[in-house]
Amino acid sequence: MKEVKLTFHNNGLRSYIDVDLCSQCPRQDDKGCCGYYSPVFYPSDFAYLIRHQPELLEEILSLSQITVLDASITVNHTVEDPGYRCYFHNTEGGCRLPQLMRESVCRHFVCPGIPWEQDEKFKHWKDFFSRLSDYEIELNNKISEQLKSERLSLRNRESRPLFFKRLLEIFDQETVIIPDFIDKLNKEESLSLVCELKYGEDWIL
Ligand code: SF4
Repeated sequence: MKEVKLTFHNNGLRSYIDVDLCSQCPRQDDKGCCGYYSPVFYPSDFAYLIRHQPELLEEILSLSQITVLDASITVNHTVEDPGYRCYFHNTEGGCRLPQLMRESVCRHFVCPGIPWEQDEKFKHWKDFFSRLSDYEIELNNKISEQLKSERLSLRNRESRPLFFKRLLEIFDQETVIIPDFIDKLNKEESLSLVCELKYGEDWIL
């Protein structure tokens, strides 16, 4: 049994959860959950990257292992026995992206072995991240639909500068009013729970 601390950061669309167990991941394979995931970046991520780390967006666009759809980019993992490895994951030090630069699954993920969602004292954060995910999906769908209606797509390399220019304009229009539930919660809170650790592949991801 081990006490695990979760720190919740309410940062609007860039909210995230820190888990203090990650530095001693029970999978013991130097990649944990990141060995099974390919991050997907959506319009709200692009808006943040353009304004805070445009060189990261450039790097993503220059990669060969990406899947580009009309308004999203998946950075595909590479095969590495056992399992895979995320492009952004280092053997030492884990994810090289700061939390704010990660996409939402990476920012919100907590291993299922840590049963925080069943614990009543975490309910306000469970509700917060659930509502935030719904809000983010709805926002990204709106932005994607608008770009599509203007015949703008990431698949068209030539029109990407205009795509990102319009994306920022639409993002700003759509986020003038932020939902109430975001302002109602603390900016940060740390809470702990005790859970049973299992090791290697017995630790479910
Ligand atoms: S982007 Fe970072 S957190 Fe997300 S899967 Fe890759 S290494 Fe893990």
